[in-house]
Amino acid sequence: MNKEKDLIGQIIHDTDGREYHVTAVLSKGGQGIVYRTAEEFLIKINTSLDKDKYRERYKWLQKRGSQLPKETRIAFPIAVLEEPWVGYVMMEAKGHVSLNDYVEKPEEIDDLWDWYFNATGGLSKRLQIGYLLAKSLRYLHINGYAYVDLSPNNVFVSKEKNSLAIIDSDNITSGAYRPLIDGTNYYMAPEIANKTAVASTVTDTYSYAVLLFKMLTTCHPFIGDEAEDANPEIVQESVDKGKLDYIGDPVSSSNKNSNFENTKIFLTDELAELFRRTFVEGKKESSRRPTLMEFMKACMHARNRVIQCDHNGCDAEYYYTGYKCICPLCDSHIKKVYLLQSRNMVKTRGKILIPVDGSQDMKPLDVYADDIGFMAVTKQLKYINRSFFDENIPLESDVSFLAVGRTKEGKLAAYNLSKNVITINNSKMSKARPVDPYKKGVTKPVVVDDDPGAHFLFLEKNIDVTTECEFIDTKQIEKFYGSAEISKFITIKQEG
Ligand SMILES: [Zn+2]
Repeated sequence: MNKEKDLIGQIIHDTDGREYHVTAVLSKGGQGIVYRTAEEFLIKINTSLDKDKYRERYKWLQKRGSQLPKETRIAFPIAVLEEPWVGYVMMEAKGHVSLNDYVEKPEEIDDLWDWYFNATGGLSKRLQIGYLLAKSLRYLHINGYAYVDLSPNNVFVSKEKNSLAIIDSDNITSGAYRPLIDGTNYYMAPEIANKTAVASTVTDTYSYAVLLFKMLTTCHPFIGDEAEDANPEIVQESVDKGKLDYIGDPVSSSNKNSNFENTKIFLTDELAELFRRTFVEGKKESSRRPTLMEFMKACMHARNRVIQCDHNGCDAEYYYTGYKCICPLCDSHIKKVYLLQSRNMVKTRGKILIPVDGSQDMKPLDVYADDIGFMAVTKQLKYINRSFFDENIPLESDVSFLAVGRTKEGKLAAYNLSKNVITINNSKMSKARPVDPYKKGVTKPVVVDDDPGAHFLFLEKNIDVTTECEFIDTKQIEKFYGSAEISKFITIKQEG
């Protein structure tokens, strides 16, 4: 008999007497079932053997959840169910689908690439989800909690919007509470499966890394070709306890996955290095794992590098690695790509010492790391955040102030999403045009003309280029010129 469906059509009450009409099963996990209701709230009913231990806990979670910032994106209990049920009521994230849709390819679908690109939003969408999930967990962590049971079953994402929600807060721990479960098989950290540590922020980060790796490459980091013919229970135990080598381990060939050899193109070098640190050095030594912030940055950098194939009928996404790079799906190379790079400009006593490698007369300064903000723009609209210039700004202030994309004619259009003054100039610095704050239907974006040289996008007006110079650091300049300040601009170059 299908027990979980028995509740459909029934009315359940919370302890404040509110009614909920159960309409459908949303998801099912080891500890219980999540239902949809006609009232548009979700209801979680605990069906585990430990369910009585959870009754008090749900009240605690309801209180804690109301104190945490909304950026955690976790659906905490908003009410607790009346007996005989052990469970709670939570908000439903409307229009969100299970992350499983992006992680597990249905067996009936043969064409991996069609599923990856057309059915599930491709590479950009996956990197966006990876970023949002790391951000959400990070908010939880910096408030002193660990999530404990991260898996695709507990994460819901919007197909259209930049939005994500985590359901099932049952096992969240603040350190004082010892979770009743280990987590989800294939996603738990080895020290949990081996019972040598309790759940913490670093075990969460491990589960996150497994999830991100699977979502991007379609492979589990520890399941190789040999697992196909092996006993599934032994495979699961070996994966959970960390007995196998990472399939991407550059120095081990003991556990390889032939699918991964095709899908590793979906990892940038930066992401590949973070996974290596997690699954090789960090597998047994949790302190060597990267942080969620490192994963957030790597997802953001990777997204900025994604280009979309502009060959007829092919929209595949891949990383821009130089103009010679070719589409993994149709083997053609991109017709036109705009490369945007954030740069530093030093101003002192009204003069601007400007490092520009796009202009013939000026040399780049080699004292600043210019690889912070790099973006390749093709067909998709991309957003430039404040962190494009400065990665150390706080998460909460990392807003988008500019959107860029290619017009139908293949030119670059810039939309000012902020109230700041933004100017675009040509390569000779002779034609400054303001990019007015964008209002749909009222103002137009500024379109960059085809021009063999670079264009410059400045974050303020009245730019006057006076000097070319090389120097070591601002302190050195200040010795010569007095006070100096650094401001930011973007070079726009066109290839193709
Ligand atoms: Zn293509």
